Amino acid sequence: SRKFWVGGNWKMNGDKKTIDEIIKFLNAGPLDPAVEVVVGVPAIYLEYTKNILPPNVSASAQNCYKVPKGAFTGEISPPMISDIGVKWVILGHSERRHIFGENDDREGGKTEEVVFRQTKAVADKVKDWSKVVIAYEPVWAIGTGKTATPQQAQEVHKKLREWLSKNVSDKVASETRIVYGGSVTGANCVELSKEPDIDGFLVGGASLKPEFVQIVNARK
Ligand code: 13P
Repeated sequence: SRKFWVGGNWKMNGDKKTIDEIIKFLNAGPLDPAVEVVVGVPAIYLEYTKNILPPNVSASAQNCYKVPKGAFTGEISPPMISDIGVKWVILGHSERRHIFGENDDREGGKTEEVVFRQTKAVADKVKDWSKVVIAYEPVWAIGTGKTATPQQAQEVHKKLREWLSKNVSDKVASETRIVYGGSVTGANCVELSKEPDIDGFLVGGASLKPEFVQIVNARK
C-alpha cells in the first residue's frame, strides 16, 4: 500500500524568523509517523531549513534546471540540490509553466487532455518511479479557496492511475503516490483523504500555518 505523503509548498514565502516559527509547529506536531512529510523551501533557505527540520520531515527544492552545471544564471541544478543533502524537488508546478491560455481546465473540459499530456512528458523521462510523487493540482484551485470536491479529485486521480497502468505498468500504477493540491485546508483534508486514489497532498498557503499539522494527520 502507498505511504500517505504530504508536502508543504512554501512558494516564495518565509524568512528566517517565520521559518523558525514553522519549525516550532512541526516540532510540536505531533506528526503521524505513518506519513511522509516534505516541505518545499525557497532555494536560498534550503540548507538553513534542512539543518533545523525535525528528523521525520524532509526538505525539497521548489524547482531546478535539467543540466548539472553551466551558464544558466539564476538556476540551480539537481547535483547542487543533492550536494546539500536534499532529496526532493518540485518539478513542473503550474506557477513555473507558461500557462496554456486557459485558467480553468475543468470548465474547459480539457482536464484529461492536459493531465495526460503533462504526465506523458514526465513518464518518458522517468527511470525510477519509486522516487516520483505525482501532484494533481487543478489550476483553478490553486490559491483560490476553490477546492476540488473529493469526487472531482478522485475521478482525475483514478484516471491518472489508469493512464500509468496502460502506459507504464500495473506495478507503477499501484505503487506511485498521486497527491492532490489546490486550496487544501485543515477543514477539507479529511474528506479528500478518504478517497482511495488520493495518496496525500501538496499544500500551499496552509503549509505556512500550524494547520499544516492537521493536514499531515488527515487520515489519523
Ligand atoms: P494552495 O494550497 O495555496 O492553493 O496552493 C497549492 C499549490 O500550488 C501547492 O503546490
